[in-house]
Amino acid sequence: MSQDLKITDLTAYATSFPLPKDGNVRLGIGRAVKKDAVVVKVTTAGGLVGWGESHHARAPSTIAKLVETTLKMLVVGEDASDVQGIWKKIYTKQLASHGLGAGTAMAMSGIDMALWDIRGKATGWPLYKLLGGRSKPVAAYAGGISLGFQDPAELVEEARVHLAAGYKAVKLRLGDNPGNDIARVAAIRKAFGPELAILTDANIGYSVADAREVMPALDEHRVAWLEEPFPAHDYRSYREAKAFGRVPLAAGENHYTRFEFSRLIDEGMVTILQPDLSKTGGVTEFMKIAAMASAHKLPVHPHTSMTGLNMAASIHVLAALDDPGYFEGDVSRNNLFRDVMVSTPYRVDAQGFVHPLEGPGLGLEVDEDFLIKHPVIEGPSYV
Ligand SMILES: [Mg+2]
Repeated sequence: MSQDLKITDLTAYATSFPLPKDGNVRLGIGRAVKKDAVVVKVTTAGGLVGWGESHHARAPSTIAKLVETTLKMLVVGEDASDVQGIWKKIYTKQLASHGLGAGTAMAMSGIDMALWDIRGKATGWPLYKLLGGRSKPVAAYAGGISLGFQDPAELVEEARVHLAAGYKAVKLRLGDNPGNDIARVAAIRKAFGPELAILTDANIGYSVADAREVMPALDEHRVAWLEEPFPAHDYRSYREAKAFGRVPLAAGENHYTRFEFSRLIDEGMVTILQPDLSKTGGVTEFMKIAAMASAHKLPVHPHTSMTGLNMAASIHVLAALDDPGYFEGDVSRNNLFRDVMVSTPYRVDAQGFVHPLEGPGLGLEVDEDFLIKHPVIEGPSYV
């Protein structure tokens, strides 16, 4: 295969599948009714193909359109190995001025991930090795669209399944109401004892008063973090809530690029950083954010939830950090993007660890027929 890495084509698939009505998970952003994704394919003159994931932004065909129009015109003809140059070109020509902000960050994330896949295929190295890491175990927690608003006894039974699969940490969904939220956390702590790591995520469902009521109980039950009590831009509420307890505040899945993380770190309220590779600017930008976090001694636990592409990439980047945080395992019951769309879904071992794939680049293949057979379903994915 020729090593001519000139980019010749770029395709973005907006894809969806409905979730069965009887098993819908409820969380702070509503009830999940379908899953959406945007999968980006980059082709080079030499015949190498790279795959990446752009977050769907709850408007998947819009993100796909941005990839296939303006961004494609900026990227075709460039050298696929020049990830820094291509990132800068999209940043200066589109993102930084008049350019759809977060939408462009998500769209360019999938392109960047695909370019790293190509770099790996061109050299024969897995992504973790290209980034200077080694194949080491990465601790995983049971997350994704799971462990939602349900009766505490049912929640305990769901958690029991994830612990039996190997997980040593679980993330519970808060943001229902303070009373129910505290009852669920208490039930999980009581059922599984002091060893289980309990993480929580309110998915922006809290008022400042809710946080004031809940945070002392999270301290009492030794919860390891409270994620996104408020929207990403609501720095004032984060500042107020910081004083309500000892539980560290976490955020980052709705922060874009190193520039927003720079402010998040400077503000000092959020001490658990959760950039999403498919949103914040891809592998290239994630590594810059991780370097910044390292200088501030802040842990990085990348957010994932949708396809096996972002899951594989997240494990690779964690294996390339000197002090990796958790991998977010997606333990949702029904995820074709995790189990069917890619050749090699991630696996958690009996000790609760995941391992990076060994094939070149991301180390997995994408079933393009799956993408063609599951076209986008327009409309909101949470109701
Ligand atoms: Mg979250």
